[in-house]
Amino acid sequence: MNTAAVIAFLVVTSLYLEFEFKGLLVTEATRDLETRANLVSDNLALSPDSEVQEAVAGAARASGTRVTLINRSGTVRADSEAIADEMDDHSTRPEVIKALETGVGTSERYSNTRHLDFIYVAVTDPQNPQADIVRVALPMRQMTTRLEVVRSTIFITVGVLFIAGLALSFVLAQYIVRPIEIVRSAAQELAKGNLEVKVEMNRRDEFGQLVDAFNSMGREMQNRVGQLEDNRREMSTIMDNMAEGLLLVDSGGGVILANRAAEALLITGDKSLIGRPLWETVRLPEVDELLSSLPNLDEPRRIWVEDRTQGTQRRVLGFVATPLFETAKGEKHAVLLISDATEDQKLLEMRQDFVANVSHELKTPLTSISAYVETLLDGAADDESVRVPFLKKIQTNSTRLSKLVSDILNLSRLESGTGDESRQLLDLNELATSCADRHRETATNKDVALTVHKSGQPVIALVNEEDMTEAVDNLIVNAISYTPSGGTVDVRIRRTDLGLLLEVEDTGCGIPEEALSRVFERFYRVDKARSRALGGTGLGLAIVKHVAIKHGGKVDAESEVGKGSKFRISLPAPQPQAQRG
Ligand code: ADP
Repeated sequence: MNTAAVIAFLVVTSLYLEFEFKGLLVTEATRDLETRANLVSDNLALSPDSEVQEAVAGAARASGTRVTLINRSGTVRADSEAIADEMDDHSTRPEVIKALETGVGTSERYSNTRHLDFIYVAVTDPQNPQADIVRVALPMRQMTTRLEVVRSTIFITVGVLFIAGLALSFVLAQYIVRPIEIVRSAAQELAKGNLEVKVEMNRRDEFGQLVDAFNSMGREMQNRVGQLEDNRREMSTIMDNMAEGLLLVDSGGGVILANRAAEALLITGDKSLIGRPLWETVRLPEVDELLSSLPNLDEPRRIWVEDRTQGTQRRVLGFVATPLFETAKGEKHAVLLISDATEDQKLLEMRQDFVANVSHELKTPLTSISAYVETLLDGAADDESVRVPFLKKIQTNSTRLSKLVSDILNLSRLESGTGDESRQLLDLNELATSCADRHRETATNKDVALTVHKSGQPVIALVNEEDMTEAVDNLIVNAISYTPSGGTVDVRIRRTDLGLLLEVEDTGCGIPEEALSRVFERFYRVDKARSRALGGTGLGLAIVKHVAIKHGGKVDAESEVGKGSKFRISLPAPQPQAQRG
C-alpha cells in the first residue's frame, strides 16, 4: 500500500517535472525565436521583390531557422524551405493574426508544408501598413531531443530516489516499525490477560529501555495479580470453611456473594443463590422483612426464623444482618450471617422447661411445709394428735426437697462436665453388690426378691465410683419401687464382646411403649402422683443416662406393661494399659 503510494507519488512528480521543463523550454525557445525574428526582420526590411527569396534564404542560414516573409494581406512573399507561390494564404495563421495586432505572435502547431510540429514566431510593425510580417520557425523536434535527455535524467533520479526510499523504508521497518509492532502485539496480549507475555529484544538504545520497562511492567502486573489471586483464594477458603453461612447482598436484597455453608443452609436442589434476589430462594417473610429493614439499620440486627419450608423437620435459622456499607465502587452492600440455631433453640427451650419444672417441683413441698408450719403455729402444735403427723409431713417434704435439690445439683454437675472427674478401675460385680445391699432391707420389707447375678470373673470398668453408684442405686430403687410384693429384681453383670453390661430387671408394672423413650427426660414420669408418693423426683433416670454417657457408654430400656422392665447400662471395656495402671 505504502509502496504503491510512493510509486504513484514519484510518477506524478516526474510527469510534473517533465511538464514544467517542457514549458520552460518552449518559453525559452519562443523568446529566442522572437529575437531572431527581429534580427531577420531588420535585414529583410529593404529587400526588393527580385532579391527577396535570396535574402530569406540568407536570413534562414544566418538565424538557423526557417524564415517566411508574408505581406499584410497574408500572401507568402518568400519562404526559406518552400516555394512561395505554392503556399496558401497565411492571413489566418494565429501567429500572423497576433503579430498584426500586437507586433509579435507565437504558435505551436503542425506544419502542412513540412509535415512536422513547429514553433512559429511572427513579428511586424503593427503601425506601419507597408511593413511585411517576418516569421521564423523551428521544428519542435529539436526541443523534444533535449526533453528526452531531461526526461531520462528525471527517470534515473526518480528511480534512484525510489530505490533509496525502498531501502530506507526497509531499514525503518526493520529497526523501528517491526519492534513497535512486536511491543504493540505484546501489549495487546497483556491487555487480554496473558501476563506471561515477554518481549525479547537485544537493544541498548531507547527502544531497548522501552522494552525493559514493558517487561518489568508485565512482571509487576503478574506479581500484583498473583497477590490478588492469593488473597482471593485465601478469602474464599476462609468463607467456604466457615460453619456459618455468609451472604453479601445489595440494598435490594440481591445476592452478590454466598459461601458454601449459606448455600447448604438455604438451598434445596442445585440452584444457586448468587445473582438473584434472596427472597426468590428463601421464602421466609421474616427474612424479607429483615432485608427491607437494611437501609434503616445502624447496628447489626439478629432474628431467629422457624423454617417450615424444608419438610416436616423443625429447623430454626439465625440471621444476623449488618447495616449497609459503601463499597469502593460506591455501591451499598450488607453482610448476612446465617446459622442453624435448631440445637441452640432446643437447648434454650429445654432450659426454660427445666427452670419451670424445677420451680414447680420445689414449690410443691415448700408450699406444703409452709402450710403445716402455719397450721402448727396457729395452735395445732398444742394438739398432740396432729403435731406428730404434721411434723412427719414436714420431715417427708423436707427430705423430698433435699433429694430434689441434690438430684438437680448432681444432674447439673454431670451435664456441665465439671466436678470430680477422678475415675478408678472397679469391679462392677462389687459395685452392684454393695448397691443392692444398701436397698436389700427395703426390698425385703416390700417382699421383693432382690438378687445380684455376678459374672464368673471380675468385670473391671474405669468409673467414677460416686456417679456410677448413684446411677445403679437409682435403677435398683426404681425397680423395687415399681415392683409389687412378691415380685423379683435381678441385677446382672456381664462382659460381652461389645463391652460391659449392667442390667436391672424387674417384674413390676412396666412402662407403656410410648413413654419408654421419654423416661430418661428430666422430670418425666409415667404416673406423677405415684412417683411423688414413692418419693421420686423424676430425675433418677436422667442422672443414669448422663452417668452412662459421661463414661462413654449408654443406657437403654425394654419394658412390657404388667410384666416388668429391664434397664441396661453399657460401658466400654477399659484399655489394657488403663487396667494395668
Ligand atoms: P422417678 O423419681 O419418678 O422414679 P425416674 O427418672 O427415676 O423418676 O423415672 C422416671 C419415670 O419412669 C418414673 O416416674 C416411672 O414412671 C418410670 N419408671 C422408672 N423406672 C421404672 C421401673 N423399673 N418400672 C416401671 N416404671 C419405671
